[in-house]
Amino acid sequence: MSFTVAIIGRPNVGKSTLFNRLIGRKLAIVHDMPGVTRDRRSAPASLLGLEFEVIDTAGLEVSGPETLEGRMRQQTERALAEADVALFLIDGRAGLTPMDEHFAQLLRRQKTPVILVANKCEGKAGDQGMYESYGLGLGDPIPLSAEHGLGLGDLLAALLPYS
Ligand code: GDP
Ligand code: MG
Repeated sequence: MSFTVAIIGRPNVGKSTLFNRLIGRKLAIVHDMPGVTRDRRSAPASLLGLEFEVIDTAGLEVSGPETLEGRMRQQTERALAEADVALFLIDGRAGLTPMDEHFAQLLRRQKTPVILVANKCEGKAGDQGMYESYGLGLGDPIPLSAEHGLGLGDLLAALLPYS
């Protein structure tokens, strides 16, 4: 029996970069510039031999009366409903932002288990954000570099109980 992992978090924290690494191909579009249309996608993934379904979330496409925040919230809630566990990414280099806090509040109030992940933690530049993220009330962060493929063993260990 496979399980489903959702990758959530504010724009630009590296969700699609992690998604691409886990699925092993360039299905999700990674952009340096925020505000680009991106759809939610799911695909079969494997992490050091552990297999699961992974969902990437975006939600930057705003149409009609929808707000960016409303759309992101809707996408996140849909992904959480389908997932057995969620990876909540923050950007260790940027540190915590009000939008991270906003997401964290939403996540603390729902029932899907959440693994806190501090991305962009290659080198020392990510330490500050990683330490700050202890304060989110979502447990100990796992330092990761989705771009450089660092921290994947610890991520595997965190996901195993849900497999
Ligand atoms: P998303 O909006 O959360 O899906 O973020 P993206 O995956 O599109 O990445 C946003 C930016 O962060 C891109 O410029 C990525 O190359 C960069 N990025 C992603 N992961 C890492 C990482 O581990 N380290 C660093 N330094 N940059 C990263
Ligand atoms: Mg993305």
